[in-house]
Amino acid sequence: MQAVTILGATGSIGVSTLDVIRRHPDRFSVFALTANKDVKRMLEQCLEFKPRYAVMADVSAAKELQQAIKAENIECEVLSGNEGLVKVASLPEVDTVMAAIVGAAGLLPSLAAAEAGKRVLLANKEALVMSGHLFMQAVRDNGAVLLPIDSEHNAIFQSMPAGYKTGTKPVSVRRILLTASGGPFRDADPKTLGAVTPEQAVAHPNWSMGRKISVDSATMMNKGLELIEACWLFDVGPDDIEVVIHRQSVIHSMVDYTDGSVLAQMGNPDMRTPIAHAMAWPERIESGVAPLDMFSVGRLDFEPPDLERFPCLRLAFEAAEAGGTASTILNAANEIAVDAFLDERLGFTMIADVIEATMNAIDFQEADSLETILSTDAKAREVALGIIENMVVN
Ligand code: NDP
Repeated sequence: MQAVTILGATGSIGVSTLDVIRRHPDRFSVFALTANKDVKRMLEQCLEFKPRYAVMADVSAAKELQQAIKAENIECEVLSGNEGLVKVASLPEVDTVMAAIVGAAGLLPSLAAAEAGKRVLLANKEALVMSGHLFMQAVRDNGAVLLPIDSEHNAIFQSMPAGYKTGTKPVSVRRILLTASGGPFRDADPKTLGAVTPEQAVAHPNWSMGRKISVDSATMMNKGLELIEACWLFDVGPDDIEVVIHRQSVIHSMVDYTDGSVLAQMGNPDMRTPIAHAMAWPERIESGVAPLDMFSVGRLDFEPPDLERFPCLRLAFEAAEAGGTASTILNAANEIAVDAFLDERLGFTMIADVIEATMNAIDFQEADSLETILSTDAKAREVALGIIENMVVN
C-alpha cells in the first residue's frame, strides 16, 4: 500500500490522479491533499478520500476549510501556507508525492519531497525549469525516485532502455524526439494572433488542462519548458532533442537509438495513462483510459516547428543553451506574462516580447543555490511586471 500526498489535488492533474487512486483502493491510500483557494472542491475530496491532512496554501481558505471539516465531523488536520505544503510532502509516513501544483509555487514542496527521498511523480515542470541542477542533485543525494508525469517525458521514459533511471545519461540513444501538438494556433495566420482572447487560447484541440499550461501550449512555451525539463530528466543537451509537431497527439514522444531504431509510446491523449504508469511503475495498472483505436486515428503527421510563429519556443532553446539562471528568468517572466494575458492586461503576441525583454534585462548567473534561484525568480517577476506596465502605458 502506497501512502500518497497530492500537491495540487484540486487541479486537472490532481483530479486525474484521484481518479486513478479511486480505481485501486488496494494499492493506494491518500495521506494528504493540497490546494490554494478552492475550498469547495477540497472539501468534496476530503469527504471522499479521508486524508490525514488537507493543506490550503492560502491562509483564509485554510480557515474556511477548517470550519467546513469541523461541521462535517471528519478527522482531517488542516494546515496552511508553504510550511504546510512542505510538511505533507516530506513526513516519514508518505511514500509517494504527486507534484502537481502549477508554476513556481510548486518548487519548495516538490524539492522537499526530493530531499526527503520520496517517490516523486513530477508534473510541476516549472520546478525543474527553475532549479534543474539543485532538484536533480536533491534526487541523487537523497535516493529519491523521480518519475515524469508530463505525457512526453513519461513517453520518453517508457521508451528508454530497460532499467533506465532518470537523471542518468541514456546509453545508445542518438536523440530524443519531443512531440508537440502545435496548440490551437498551429495553422492560424500569424497576423491574427494579436487579437487572440484568453478563451480562444485555453481551448486546446487535443488535451483538457489547467489554464496556465493551456496558454503555454498555445504559445508553445509549454514545449520550450518541456525541452528544458527533458534536458534535466534525461541528462542531455538541447542539441540532443528535436521538437516534432505531431498534430494528432497519439505518439507522445520518441527515442532514436544509434542502431536506427526509433521507439515511440502511443495512446489516447488522457493524462491518466502517464499518471497510472508512474504510480504503479515498474508494474502496470488499469487507468480508465479507452483503448487507442488506430483506425479512427487513421494517419500520423509530422512537421518541423516554426520558430518565427512561436518565438517562445526559440527563447526556451536560447535559455537551455545559456544554462544557469536563464531558464529561471524565462519561467518567471512567462508566469507573469501569462497571468497578465489571462487578466486581459496583455495581448497574446506580447507574451514573448515580455519574456525576451526580461531575459535581456537581467544578467544570467550560476544557478547553484536556492537563494540565487529564489532571488532571481523574484527579480525577474518585478522586471517583467515593469515591462508590462510600460507596454500598457505606451
Ligand atoms: P491547474 O491549474 O488545473 O491546477 C493547479 C493546482 O495547483 C490546483 O490544485 C491549485 O489549487 C494549485 N495551486 C495553484 N496556485 C497555487 C499556489 N500558489 N500554492 C499552492 N497551490 C497552488 O493545473 P494543472 O493540473 O493543469 O497543472 C499542474 C502542473 O502539471 C503544471 O505544472 C502543469 O504544467 C503540469 N502538467 C499538466 C498537464 C495537464 O494535462 N493538466 C500535463 C502535463 C503537465 P486551487 O485549485 O485551489 O487554485
